[in-house]
Amino acid sequence: FSRYTGPYIAGRVAARHRTAFDVITENRKFRVKTSGALLKIGKIPAVGDFVVILNQPETGTRMIVDILPRRSILTRGAAGEGNTEQVIAANLDIVFIVTAAGSDFNPRRLERYLTIVHASGAKPVIVINKSDLAEDAEKIAAEAVKIAGKVPVVTISALKKNGLEELENYLMPEKTVALVGSSGVGKSTIINALLSEEVQDTFDTRKYDEKGRHTTTVRQLFTLPGGAVIIDNPGVREIQIGSAAAGIDETFPEIAEFAPECRYRNCRHTDEPGCAVIEAVNAGFIPKERLESYHRLMKESEFQAEKEEIGL
Ligand code: GDP
Ligand code: ZN
Repeated sequence: FSRYTGPYIAGRVAARHRTAFDVITENRKFRVKTSGALLKIGKIPAVGDFVVILNQPETGTRMIVDILPRRSILTRGAAGEGNTEQVIAANLDIVFIVTAAGSDFNPRRLERYLTIVHASGAKPVIVINKSDLAEDAEKIAAEAVKIAGKVPVVTISALKKNGLEELENYLMPEKTVALVGSSGVGKSTIINALLSEEVQDTFDTRKYDEKGRHTTTVRQLFTLPGGAVIIDNPGVREIQIGSAAAGIDETFPEIAEFAPECRYRNCRHTDEPGCAVIEAVNAGFIPKERLESYHRLMKESEFQAEKEEIGL
């Protein structure tokens, strides 16, 4: 922050509201808006962003005037620094992709999440929650391992507080971790289990539905007792992979492994002669569904890229 002197303070965005942001600074938290100049250039802060606040109590001015470069960007839809509206969270180190026993396990959805997280620059960890629903949990874990590649799969029960120490391996001081996954898989329960009771330094940004259950309406950032920062995301059901195909190869390492042996360097592995990937599928090295998923995600990302080109 050396180029800022005087009434500037550094902070981190903890929650986003309709028009304002909660920012945690060294001494306190503020609810602030962003400067018109930032908005004009399309820079919209996201949860996890490190920002600069201009703070002039004497004139009543207090606003975000700058966003520091992001080391990772988790997006839905279009990826990239320019498309800030799509940013789910910034500066993540690790993303827990949470799924649970007792709910539909959808391998295709998991592949989609893996692609997005790989593309973000953060490291994914697959978390199977509700292991107390034992039989189903084992089945789901086995299926998840099949598509995980090198990504770790951790099985826990947030309710019974089983396996949490495995999660804590990823919760190192200074690291920022986010949870993604459908609603109801137990993300809030996991966070509550990780937060010891004495630490409740949270913003009351939860809303309650008619049944008195809370529903997370905004993303929130918490500091865990061990010093890691955790971000709670709402179920991102509408999650779409962006135009960045970047994460796809990492999500399908078995395809990336055979692809260099295809006859054509830009082989799409559909019906090209000499396609090593199709040969590998025919030989039973790669499950057919995996190649189908790969094609589906590639098509989606190309479609997204086209939309961006024509300015949609
Ligand atoms: P979120 O929408 O992902 O934040 O999910 P919640 O944390 O609100 O949890 C949804 C429901 O699943 C709640 O009724 C929790 O009590 C329940 N739940 C969470 N973790 C577990 C678990 O490990 N085992 C079981 N059996 N239920 C759980
Ligand atoms: Zn090929």
